[in-house]
Amino acid sequence: MSAGAWMTAGAVWEGSGVREAQRLGVSLLDGKTILVTGVANRWSIASGIARRLHAHGARLILTYQGERVEDSVRKTAAELGGGPVFECDVASDESLRALAAAVGPIDGLVHSIAFVKKEDLSGKVYDTSRLGFAMAMDISSYSLIALVGHLKDNLNDGSSIMALTYLGGTQIVPNYNMAGIAKAALESIVRYLAFDLGERGIRVNAISAGPISTASSRQVAGFSAMPAKVAAAAPLKRTVSADDIGNCAVYLASDLSSQVTADVHFVDAGYHAMGMYPDPPKA
Ligand code: NAD
Repeated sequence: MSAGAWMTAGAVWEGSGVREAQRLGVSLLDGKTILVTGVANRWSIASGIARRLHAHGARLILTYQGERVEDSVRKTAAELGGGPVFECDVASDESLRALAAAVGPIDGLVHSIAFVKKEDLSGKVYDTSRLGFAMAMDISSYSLIALVGHLKDNLNDGSSIMALTYLGGTQIVPNYNMAGIAKAALESIVRYLAFDLGERGIRVNAISAGPISTASSRQVAGFSAMPAKVAAAAPLKRTVSADDIGNCAVYLASDLSSQVTADVHFVDAGYHAMGMYPDPPKA
């Protein structure tokens, strides 16, 4: 394999466990029903997660927000086993109640939702408005509490819950600003929910994804330069794709991770562990 192939987003190492599992016909999620939120289009991280969960035999239930994305989400659902699709706006308790009444029992829940006003993704954090703060925290952080609160009777004992987070929740990432503050809260919520639900064997974890170009991430000022910065500095010398995140989601949804909870798993080619960045290669 050429050195360049290692740097391609989404490339899977020929000898990786995933290829091996596919070759041997191992389905880690047979018999499990998993509710995936946050599919807006095929580039959404939730779409990559749904693709990988489906590849491992999970029955999927997808939710979407707003008529604008309904057709795209229904198409994705049809391509991935034809499971049910429901509208759900996490800002509305009525919408969450309707979802809980409709979905039936589930073995997994993927929270892949965030919203921050564009003006709060650049400039100075001290200019964040009270409304911008409240909206970001409500949709990006509280929504995990709200989803779990409404779906707790749908979740079978032993289920797996996961949420998407980013390094900007614990480190300073210029312009990530209000989104980082919301991710810090989300990661804390993951830990407290893990404690609440542990006695039922329900696990709650977060996946910290490296930068991936999506409708949401492109709202962050200067986002377009971020993947290349990660590829240049990360130990694995590459960026990550939504399907890479999906592979971690398969592990977290499966019984292989049955003793893993209250954790943040980084899927960022190792970038988070760097304390100093290497010099760029000499021309
Ligand atoms: P995306 O825009 O494809 O997905 C965001 C989703 O949030 C959309 O499906 C949108 O409909 C949904 N959403 C927003 N408001 C909602 C509401 N009120 N009710 C229900 N759903 C609502 O972008 P993405 O990058 O795939 O984001 C998914 C998750 O991954 C987010 O939590 C994001 O912060 C996180 N994340 C993204 C990156 C990245 O670089 N793209 C990195 C780390 C973490």
